Amino acid sequence: MAATFAFAESRDGNLRKVGFEAVTAARQAADATGGGEVHALVLGAPGIAEKAEELGRYGADVVGVVEHQGLERYSPEVAAATAAERLRTGDYRVAFFAASAQGRDLAPRTAARLGVSLASDVIDFEIQGDAVLARHPAYTGKVIVTLRLGGSPALLSLRPGAVTPLEQPRPGRIEEVAAALDPAAARVVVTESSQRTGGKLDLGEAPVIVSGGRGLRAAENFTLLEELAAAFGNAAVGATRAVTDDGWRPATDQIGQTGRVVSPDLYVALGISGAIQHLAGMRTARTIVAINKDKDAPIFKIADYGIVGDLFEILPRLTEEIRKAKAGQ
Ligand SMILES: Cc1cc2nc3c(=O)[nH]c(=O)nc-3n(C[C@H](O)[C@H](O)[C@H](O)COP(=O)(O)OP(=O)(O)OC[C@H]3O[C@@H](n4cnc5c(N)ncnc54)[C@H](O)[C@@H]3O)c2cc1C
Repeated sequence: MAATFAFAESRDGNLRKVGFEAVTAARQAADATGGGEVHALVLGAPGIAEKAEELGRYGADVVGVVEHQGLERYSPEVAAATAAERLRTGDYRVAFFAASAQGRDLAPRTAARLGVSLASDVIDFEIQGDAVLARHPAYTGKVIVTLRLGGSPALLSLRPGAVTPLEQPRPGRIEEVAAALDPAAARVVVTESSQRTGGKLDLGEAPVIVSGGRGLRAAENFTLLEELAAAFGNAAVGATRAVTDDGWRPATDQIGQTGRVVSPDLYVALGISGAIQHLAGMRTARTIVAINKDKDAPIFKIADYGIVGDLFEILPRLTEEIRKAKAGQ
């Protein structure tokens, strides 16, 4: 029986949440088609094998691990060559990657090496006979396109947050794998990667995002959002392009068509009108709450819960209520 492949990303010596999502999706795909094995692949510096064992909890039967000093940071050529080699030499029907910054680089490289089909930014998938159906948003999310991928393996990159990591324990047998390309021979070397958010949650990993628009009026008012995020405890702060263009927040916080695409469990939009380019980055959030003083603001069309009012009055009270609710947990 064909196996299912999942690429599990690592960063700074740790597995990333999108890796657990890829393995969860692979387990679901395998179980939906008779229960074949799930084979994960992890690349990283020495020590990553210990972390990789955790993938078994999310449904990996085998975890191939490449440990190499030269893989402390993502190496596009080594990762693509090794993923392609694994997929070429095994019997795989479907392969899952993340549509993260890393995955958006890696999945097309891997597909090109193998000459197979790839669906990017997938929010949902289904296996139907010989075909894999993958759904992804197009035209800034105005339509959801269903792609039919033939041939094996079919590659899918999953929108971060589209799949919820689910514990479904399997052996997670660690297998040492050799890199298909010597990291020292790679032509592209990532020399530095910096994360502006420091110890804070990354937008792609946060279950809750509180996001601010021009309605916040000034950079310093974003402390109100920071306070709300802190009250949630598991939230990151995002922004619209109007805000990042004005320099109130760094460009890395921008959500939308030309910024980050996120799918958190909860997205709280404050003083955001809901321009189509912004919606393109957050409309797949599971629950959307909007606060806007304009009852006709387009954001209310996609919000699950809407509050019409002045955010400067509502926000401190909301933060207080969240604090109380969390304290009572
Ligand atoms: C090619 C292109 C790409 C783009 N990419 C992106 C992108 O990736 N991401 C993105 O966000 N935008 C993007 N934009 C910009 C986008 O079109 C909008 O201009 C932008 O999203 C608007 O940001 P905003 O909602 O913060 O501001 P506005 O549209 O000005 O909305 C501010 C909102 O705040 C409300 N408000 C004001 N005061 C209060 C208050 N006291 N209490 C409550 N509500 C209040 C107002 O009613 C209003 O609805 C792009 C545009 C183009 C042309």
